[in-house]
Amino acid sequence: MHKIKSTVSAVYYFFLILLTASETGAMAQGFSKSVHFVTEKYKELPLGAIKPKGWLLHQLQIMRDGSTGHLDEVYEKVKNDNGWLGGKGDSWEETPYWLDGAVPLAYLLNDPGLKEKVLRYINWTLDNQRPSGYFGAITKWERDTGKKITADSCLKGDDWWPKMIMLKVLKQYYTATTDKRVIPFMANYFKYQLKTLKACPINKWSEWAESRGADNILVVQWLYGITKDPSLLTLAALIQEQSLPWSRYFYSRDWVINAAARQNNIAWMTRHGVNVAMAVKDPIIQYQRTGDQKYLKTAKTGFNDLMTLHGLPYGMFSADEDLHGNDPTQGTELCAIVESMFSLEQMIGITGDLQYMDALERMTFNALPAQTTDDYNNKQYFQIANQVHIKRGVFNFSLPFEREMNNVLGMRSGYTCCLANMHQGWTKFTTHLWYGTPDKGLAALHYSPNQVTAKVGAANTKVVINESTSYPFDDVINFDLTTNKAVHFPFRLRIPFWCKEATVMVNGKLLRTEKGGQIITINRKWENGDRLTLQLPMEIKTSNWGRNSRAVERGPLVYALKLDEVWEKGNHKVEGDYYSVYPKQDWNYGLIDSMIKHPATAMQVKTVKPVSENFIWNLANAPLEIKALGRKIPDWKIVNDVAPQPVTARDGLFMGETNDEVETITLVPYGCTKVRIVAFPVVR
Ligand SMILES: [Zn+2]
Repeated sequence: MHKIKSTVSAVYYFFLILLTASETGAMAQGFSKSVHFVTEKYKELPLGAIKPKGWLLHQLQIMRDGSTGHLDEVYEKVKNDNGWLGGKGDSWEETPYWLDGAVPLAYLLNDPGLKEKVLRYINWTLDNQRPSGYFGAITKWERDTGKKITADSCLKGDDWWPKMIMLKVLKQYYTATTDKRVIPFMANYFKYQLKTLKACPINKWSEWAESRGADNILVVQWLYGITKDPSLLTLAALIQEQSLPWSRYFYSRDWVINAAARQNNIAWMTRHGVNVAMAVKDPIIQYQRTGDQKYLKTAKTGFNDLMTLHGLPYGMFSADEDLHGNDPTQGTELCAIVESMFSLEQMIGITGDLQYMDALERMTFNALPAQTTDDYNNKQYFQIANQVHIKRGVFNFSLPFEREMNNVLGMRSGYTCCLANMHQGWTKFTTHLWYGTPDKGLAALHYSPNQVTAKVGAANTKVVINESTSYPFDDVINFDLTTNKAVHFPFRLRIPFWCKEATVMVNGKLLRTEKGGQIITINRKWENGDRLTLQLPMEIKTSNWGRNSRAVERGPLVYALKLDEVWEKGNHKVEGDYYSVYPKQDWNYGLIDSMIKHPATAMQVKTVKPVSENFIWNLANAPLEIKALGRKIPDWKIVNDVAPQPVTARDGLFMGETNDEVETITLVPYGCTKVRIVAFPVVR
């Protein structure tokens, strides 16, 4: 290979290669290669504009007092000689993972101590960028030679992947602080990437980087939105070209079918649940750059295929560790949940598609809280849908650990990626409750107690809106507006698909009723003290899942069999302290078929506990209960640590032996459970 001497000719040469490569790549995928940058339908608000309140505030305070606020003190890998502080310790993904949740937490809670902590890493990273634009931990070569990485010595650099996470960290930090160092830092790094990706391609150091290029691209395109530097779009196209062609996979649908049929080690990176969770946004990120509508359809095909073939009732697809079909004995890695949430939050902003908003709430209010302990210090690597116990054992996962699958609730059990990555779930959900709109309005796209401060209307008038609600446990959401002067602006609200008819009131008077499945706009002059009330009536429904099972749901919440828990503390010599959880009662119930035929009348929901300011997602605090009728299936037993679903006929009925006695069973919100049945067989 000939050596190119001048930078100018190197860049020129590189552009020629790029054009040829992206042309063939785009044609192979059937996607347009044109560039038509799309403005987001809904724009993210700066970090700190939304302040959590009520139960959500408590959740974030628990995290601050627990692992999110203290991981750097209790977790050796982050604690010792950290590479992101110039040391020889962790220089890969776990420190940036932690910061990706700790940074938003620090600014959401406006917590001086946590800000000081995270700033050490941010400052070190910003202050130690090499003149070439390269950043990150000091590499071995740099230590040995005393030199710094340049574009010419990119081969002496290190993995692109952890830098992708750090870019997301810096993006959030910038929106909170507008620190002047961030934009030039990113611009320089992206110039470095553009210069070096040919010699040091995205997969040079890891398949993770190749699988996760969309996360790199999204920050490149975010910066383009600020600087309008066209070379950023060239870089974005190049990263796509070098990364796994997720949009082609989603469009052709082969990957999802193969993932359902084959559980071998061929091309497993394309079935790896966390990779898929991150890739769900890939078509939408490419749509943002190209404006090609085909990407929108591709994203929808991909997401729907995923949920059809691998979907589980708690709103996630199986990812244990690979995509693993929709049998309720399967489960999901915690990283896959928080990455799916982040993907959806990005997709929602760009597309404004309501389906993704409903999906985000479903995984946030069901899957997410079920996988961590009350103090946010322990997590399960995989949660299982019908989880009849939590213990060390074999289970039906695609990743059997040599030392038994340590799928218990512990800090270090399973792989520790989730311990580092789980902090972005609740924090980023909070920052995406509201979005700004291009017509200078505000959109409440997801609901939870909070307060938003924003500038709206033609004169950029400051408004503060206090959103008070016990949603998702209650169906009434109040928005109280404070402003120094009356202001005309569009106020948008999401009416979820599950809601038949919502009512909207202003200052206690009915304004209108609206069908579910749309974003509505209330365009009026808003006065100080105005109260907007949204009511989203929730009806009990059932839904059909793997092995012809049925789940009970109401509004955004899915319900599971209430089982009192026995917690047992254990210790593993490598992985430390952990908890096993066992049910106190029998779990082997089928739902009586009348529950399925007429769910709204056959089952009753009851508020059993108010949602207090000290709410925790656990059994003791479960605010709601649904009473239903069931019958025990005596032969439904644990095999290989899971509860294989009883065989049912086409109509969903289990035809085997059941107990004579019909019993009243209690269901509680899935997110409050650790052991449970959620996908029920149906019995006569
Ligand atoms: Zn993980």
